[in-house]
Amino acid sequence: MRRLYLILGDQLDRDSLIFKDVDIENDCFWMAEVENEATHVWSHKQRIALFLSAMRHFAKELQDRRLPVHYLALGEHSFSSLADALSDTLSKQQPEEVWCVRPGDFRVFESLVKVTKKHNVTFKQLHDQHFLSTPAEFKQWAGEKKQLRLEYWYRTLRKKHQILMEDEKSPVGGQWNYDQSNRKAFKKDGPQDIPATFSWTADKITKEVITLVNETYPTHPGELNELHWPVTPVQAEQALGRFLDECLNNFGDHQDAMWSDEPFLNHSLISSSLNLKLLHPLTVIQQAEHYHWEKGAPLAAVEGFVRQILGWREYVRGLYWLHMPEWKNMNALGADRDLPAFYWTGETEMNCLSQTIQQTLKYGYAHHIQRLMVTGLFSLLYGVKPKQIHEWYLAVYVDAVEWVELPNTLGMSQYTDNGIMASKPYVASGSYINKMSNYCKHCRFKPSEATGEDACPFTTLFWDFLDSHQDNFQKNPRMAFMLKNLQRKDENELTAIRSQAREIRQLF
Ligand SMILES: Cc1cc2nc3c(=O)[nH]c(=O)nc-3n(C[C@H](O)[C@H](O)[C@H](O)COP(=O)(O)OP(=O)(O)OC[C@H]3O[C@@H](n4cnc5c(N)ncnc54)[C@H](O)[C@@H]3O)c2cc1C
Ligand code: SF4
Repeated sequence: MRRLYLILGDQLDRDSLIFKDVDIENDCFWMAEVENEATHVWSHKQRIALFLSAMRHFAKELQDRRLPVHYLALGEHSFSSLADALSDTLSKQQPEEVWCVRPGDFRVFESLVKVTKKHNVTFKQLHDQHFLSTPAEFKQWAGEKKQLRLEYWYRTLRKKHQILMEDEKSPVGGQWNYDQSNRKAFKKDGPQDIPATFSWTADKITKEVITLVNETYPTHPGELNELHWPVTPVQAEQALGRFLDECLNNFGDHQDAMWSDEPFLNHSLISSSLNLKLLHPLTVIQQAEHYHWEKGAPLAAVEGFVRQILGWREYVRGLYWLHMPEWKNMNALGADRDLPAFYWTGETEMNCLSQTIQQTLKYGYAHHIQRLMVTGLFSLLYGVKPKQIHEWYLAVYVDAVEWVELPNTLGMSQYTDNGIMASKPYVASGSYINKMSNYCKHCRFKPSEATGEDACPFTTLFWDFLDSHQDNFQKNPRMAFMLKNLQRKDENELTAIRSQAREIRQLF
């Protein structure tokens, strides 16, 4: 054999560089479903099913194109890890070279390097065309800068790809960022006319996968009666089309808002399709831009959407490769508590957490602010061990892959890195959740109260967090306002808060 081409579960790009120079007589594609990818974190059943169904659809397309594919299906072999499965193929087939698009996750990258080295076979990594920047470009941009900020990287990429630009250097509308207009809450009567989400009738492949996952992983978290997430590029395009036609205009204003029993609102729901490489980010961005130019979609909404993909998505990937593997072991705030058990059930009296976790178990989805300012915020204030909260996020969302999950969880949400990703910790009391949702109206706690029977645990823990970490944030100007408010509290109040925070921490 000349070359073995590895295709990983999140590399389902039909236009990948891996197809450029194939000799079908002497080369072979290789894909493997392995136990460890479903169990190294306690994966949501829908996450497992989505990967398997999308992989099987991809492999079938290769076979239909009469390309040689060696596909190891779960249950039909006994290898527990990718490395073990690959090692066996390398022993038997002895290819001259192994080619693979650069893996997204450090763990996988390391294991492939190790196993190819062990077999003394050349391992060639191809550029991942599914991003709009490269880790090397990001590293060069980061250079010796003391502090990296999303905004400047985002502007660099806007110019590079000429997205929403007036001319080569200036943004359309004269402003780079409409973040301030993207933070409105819903009015009292809540969100209006939320469009139905997409859904497809499961085909034979997906039906088989659903049965397989339910039988193989019955105790894993989450429901899996149906699978509504896109498993092919055609479905991913349809999901994008639905968002552009029906949600984009309303996406901007209420991007951060939350509402009971409304899990999806006007969000695009395309993260899993982007991460599995069923949809190309540039296609998504250019189509959104087209809706601004040709269909009058508001600039603030389109820019808000583009910023998530061209800005945040590329930024977190750059940071991930710049700071791995050290990032995974940081714990700047010394968080040392176990993840409360209700994260796996949603059974808690705190309505915001119950709503967010229950929809997560039902759909494998929660939108950004639910992840950051509900489950993430509670974990940060409560002091959950970074490894445990990281593994929870990696397990429960259908879009979860480490290169994007880890920076968002450990950096943005848990501040374990002392500011690599965020210029200050995203902390707030229950009042923020009350402002941005109707969760508190149906909750037994009162968001404004920090002590007493009805005190909101977020509010108690918020003041306790500031109190116990004052020294960490003394020199951070962005924390000055919060610390000043803390200093206004008298000693009796602080003592009561500390004691109530201790009680909350004993509850879970
Ligand atoms: C603690 C935490 C963990 C997260 N884990 C993941 C994860 O495992 N996988 C993942 O794709 N996203 C993750 N995110 C980012 C974000 O929450 C999701 O991308 C988004 O909620 C997906 O829903 P959507 O497709 O409807 O996005 P929309 O709100 O419609 O946004 C459009 C797209 O922008 C991109 N995007 C938005 N925010 C971010 C961000 N902060 N970082 C990177 N890309 C972003 C996504 O590709 C998304 O599909 C996480 C955020 C937090 C706070
Ligand atoms: S009162 Fe507190 S716990 Fe209850 S929903 Fe509001 S923020 Fe959440």
